[in-house]
Amino acid sequence: MNIILTSAEVYPYAKVGGLGDVSGYLPKEWEQLEHNPIVIMPKYGMIDTEKYKIQPLDITISVPMGSWTEYAKLWRGILPGTTVPVYFLESAEYFDRQGIYGNPEGFADNDRRFIFLSRAVFETAKAIDFRADIICANDYHTAFTMAFLKTHYRHDPYFSKTAGVYNIHNIIFQGICKPKETLFIAQIDQSQFYQGSWFEHNGAVNSMKVGIMFADKITTVSPRYATEIRYTDQGYGMQQILNLRGSDVIGILNGVDYNEWNPETDFRIYENYSLKSPLKKKNNKIEYLKEFGIPEVEAYSDMPLIGMVSRLTDQKGFDLVEQILEKWMEHYPIRFTIVGSGISRYENFFRSLAKKHPTRAIVHIGYNEVLSHKIEASSDIFLMPSHFEPCGLNQMYSLKYGTIPLVRATGGLADTVQEFNYRTGEGNGFTFDDYAIGDMAWAMERTISAYFNKPVWQKIMRNAMECNYSSTRSASRYIDVFEWALETIR
Ligand code: ADP
Repeated sequence: MNIILTSAEVYPYAKVGGLGDVSGYLPKEWEQLEHNPIVIMPKYGMIDTEKYKIQPLDITISVPMGSWTEYAKLWRGILPGTTVPVYFLESAEYFDRQGIYGNPEGFADNDRRFIFLSRAVFETAKAIDFRADIICANDYHTAFTMAFLKTHYRHDPYFSKTAGVYNIHNIIFQGICKPKETLFIAQIDQSQFYQGSWFEHNGAVNSMKVGIMFADKITTVSPRYATEIRYTDQGYGMQQILNLRGSDVIGILNGVDYNEWNPETDFRIYENYSLKSPLKKKNNKIEYLKEFGIPEVEAYSDMPLIGMVSRLTDQKGFDLVEQILEKWMEHYPIRFTIVGSGISRYENFFRSLAKKHPTRAIVHIGYNEVLSHKIEASSDIFLMPSHFEPCGLNQMYSLKYGTIPLVRATGGLADTVQEFNYRTGEGNGFTFDDYAIGDMAWAMERTISAYFNKPVWQKIMRNAMECNYSSTRSASRYIDVFEWALETIR
């Protein structure tokens, strides 16, 4: 199958969160499954072209926008560890700047940037002579590809047999744009904008809705989230729209690229370990504590280390953490560590926590790939009390690293973490249901007491490390969906 994956983030070139990870491993896995994927993405200013051997091609594509034509120069690289070509769109106007979205407020021209990207996908495919069976778009940024496939390119022989699959990684970001300008730029007739049309939602153009309505199939990143966005307020206004698509909405659990996230082979951690040598995990904790200034004698003390790797946003449950973490530090013999960045209130909270507890709290504000691996390997407990979580990857990384997840049972967290059951010996972590301090505190109480019961903890670690959430399984489910999508257009 010839597959175009397009995304605003693709690991290792450009990543903010899980969208980047998934857009990086899916093509890799599809190639392993003997398909023929390519990736199309922006050439952002911060992408290291030398490191990744990304070369300019002698091709400039024309991208129709509004009543004029814009241009992008194509660059090409190979996705590391594969032979998958990655095409980068060079546009000084749209992409040659630092950052992907311009968080936290977003760049003022994001609507245009992403419509340009969506339109350029088709022109790139034609310029490199790639006849796609599938265009797989990811999140609102590339949602307009789904509309373009069914409008401007519907009768183009290049795409007349191409099906569109729209993958929702997080429904809260919907790409809401001004109708007149957006439709003009997208070259969609203004008459297509009326109450209830596929372009209209609450008086604006909603890119998420556009993706959902025009796609042949819609996927999202966990089965639980597929249900939540249809039937609960986690759909953020898209419930009815998703329900219009009925069984075309399919939840596929994200997976883990175990080439990147595996304590047996991870070169970023202090010492490799496995299910057969779980005690070596402890050396990672000791080395981590020592690296970040904990006096050597104290580093050896048996205090559980609670870790977090996260965007610091409300979605991730930081208002709960903010209310309770200090109390936990007083009440339990624990240490805490985090790498993250985001809302400044939370950044400041963690900075002051580190000041107050210099030998018990290690805080890194920022984005740091190496530290994210070190924290996964060094922590005993991984905290993810998310308000909502489409899938979540870190809890799955944690399981593989024998770092026991304590999570709120929502979205993909509920699909991957099961409370340990003392009677049956089953379960790989600790969970709580209600987004409330009391429930989270009680889950922490259970987690800490299990930690100090060594045979129990070893059993939970074993259960966790034996879990297999490989990206191979996940990627092959997408292939099934692609086949179904192709059937709908035949
Ligand atoms: P989301 O996509 O909502 O941010 P996920 O759990 O799906 O959440 O994916 C988060 C990804 O981003 C993981 O790979 C995680 O390790 C990474 N990540 C998040 N924050 C940081 C950070 N500050 N430094 C390094 N990696 C981070």
